Amino acid sequence: MKLRDAGEYLLCMVFPERCIFCNEVIEPLHLACDACMADMHLILPPSCPYCGCHEQDCRCAEHRHCYDNVVAPFYYKGAVRSGILRLTKWDDPRAVDYFAAQMTAAIRREYPDIPFEAVFYVPMTKGDQRERGYNQSQLLAREVAKRLGLPLQHHLIKLYQTAPQKQLKLWQRQGNVLGAFGVTQLLEESHVLLVDDLLTTGASMDECAKMLKLYGVTTVTALTAALTPPDKGDE
Ligand SMILES: [Zn+2]
Ligand SMILES: [Zn+2]
Repeated sequence: MKLRDAGEYLLCMVFPERCIFCNEVIEPLHLACDACMADMHLILPPSCPYCGCHEQDCRCAEHRHCYDNVVAPFYYKGAVRSGILRLTKWDDPRAVDYFAAQMTAAIRREYPDIPFEAVFYVPMTKGDQRERGYNQSQLLAREVAKRLGLPLQHHLIKLYQTAPQKQLKLWQRQGNVLGAFGVTQLLEESHVLLVDDLLTTGASMDECAKMLKLYGVTTVTALTAALTPPDKGDE
């Protein structure tokens, strides 16, 4: 064992490494437990550009969103579901790093030809962010932007607090976020990425994409760590 490894090993004994998905204590220098590694639901190509699901899972009759396309590396199931829930409680940089790397790989694979100019993220209100201490969508967007060599933009803001989307029925969600987002200045970018941790109905993404376009953007590609599988739309 090298000296550096020995140091890391000692550190891990004092602060044990935890699985980035389920938070169980795991072996030092590992990222996830075996059970979680075996419970990942990757969205493999070919995927539907409009709902982001694998083509065989696609249920979209028509494209009715303000964003132009959706990319996500995972379905919101199993380990990834736990991992995304965990990300709302702990801003674990290893988890952020892992998801951002998978998101970056997915966007590079699906849209290598779109000349993205900036990365935006779905914002929280100042009060909500103060309470939590961070916005996980912003953390993911920052890492994705770094990996793609693009600027991270903070011009999208949340104007007022809304009821948590997951507490509402699907049909209530669009109305809940209507008018909740604003943009602080005219935008010069044509093609942008809009990052969130999770896409369910896409209501928040839609509202944010609508605002970005009102302020000058031409195309918005939604990029999330995970999306709800078509049969689990009510989660
Ligand atoms: Zn685990
Ligand atoms: Zn589809």
